[in-house]
Amino acid sequence: MLQTIPAFDRLGEENAFAVLARATTLAQQGKDIVNLGIGQPDFKTPAHIVEAAIKALREGHHGYTPANGLLATREAVVRRTLTMTGVEVSPENVMILPGGKPTMFAAILMFGEPGVDILYPDPGFPIYRSMIEFTGARPVPVPIREANGFAFSAEETLALITPQTRLLILNSPANPTGGVTPRAEVEKLVKGLEAHPQVAILSDEIYDVMTYDGEVHCSLLQFPEIRERLVVLNGWSKTWAMTGWRMGWSIWPNSAESGRLYDKVRKLAVNCWSCVNAPSQFAGIAAIDGSQEEVDRMMKAFDRRRRIVVEGLNSLPGVSCITPKGAFYAFPNVSETGWKAKKLAAALLDDAGVALIGGPDFGVLGEGYMRLSYANSEENILRAIERIEAFLKERSPQ
Ligand code: PLP
Repeated sequence: MLQTIPAFDRLGEENAFAVLARATTLAQQGKDIVNLGIGQPDFKTPAHIVEAAIKALREGHHGYTPANGLLATREAVVRRTLTMTGVEVSPENVMILPGGKPTMFAAILMFGEPGVDILYPDPGFPIYRSMIEFTGARPVPVPIREANGFAFSAEETLALITPQTRLLILNSPANPTGGVTPRAEVEKLVKGLEAHPQVAILSDEIYDVMTYDGEVHCSLLQFPEIRERLVVLNGWSKTWAMTGWRMGWSIWPNSAESGRLYDKVRKLAVNCWSCVNAPSQFAGIAAIDGSQEEVDRMMKAFDRRRRIVVEGLNSLPGVSCITPKGAFYAFPNVSETGWKAKKLAAALLDDAGVALIGGPDFGVLGEGYMRLSYANSEENILRAIERIEAFLKERSPQ
């Protein structure tokens, strides 16, 4: 047998992709599946964005670009950051990458090694833990509790920091819970971090535009006191329905004090993916600078569906669901059904034709919960709720 380094045996997966594959197979066998499993908008990329990519290709933009991204794309990110956060960043700190994930890959790789701790949200995006384990660092879960509206608790987070802690991963609005951490809690957390200057922060803000009920996104960029140890992850995937384009950006410090993180990620790009494909980078500029009407339309649709999902879930026997304040996920508590969450998710897919994800796929504290993505039509959401209701009434728990 060939010998690879043990780190590869510690890499995890994202079960949402396995559920998508299973749902697709069942659909190909002729089964009628309602897919509330995958975390991607069901809208098309707005036409003007597609056109910008086509135009770029026609004009001959098909070669390498700088590893950190085209200056024009980085400048567009600077404009977008100013509009969203009121903070002026330099294009010299903006990195363009093939999606949101490569930023977490790079940041976790930079800080993780045996003997250090990395704090990450649980339940949370599964790749955080997978990558932490890959590096050999100790994954330390920060509990994200329903009783706290699925927000981070500054107190609980700070209490987990030790001299071994090198990186803290934050995510708001959050996958899988839809939780949004209120500004007051972020302020408390940042204040507490003053006592731990060795801790870098990776703030995953990929759902920044997706907040509801007048909630305003709080970006960690708005705290200059942590800027030299902050990496902000963002991207085009969710906001402009561009998951398959593989376009992300992140903002990195580059001072000597920060350890010149930006230079490090730029070098990683040179060594791995060289650059993001040029036409996508032109599309990225059009997304930021063009009309946001379709983004607004998408957000209005998500908001309507959010209400339908929450109302529907709360009408089910043994299910309760708090109203998510962000992203496009609901995270209902199913513990009173008597089912183990993963068994329930598997049975719902195979026997009721509804694809969703069991909470334990997002961490040990996900037991008793399921993730529903409401990136699907109102009609399909209602069909899914009806099917789950019939299933729960007919079947005894396992
Ligand atoms: N961060 C979070 C919290 C996500 O939910 C996702 C995608 O589901 C990503 C990052 C990755 O985004 P991308 O598809 O752009 O790599």
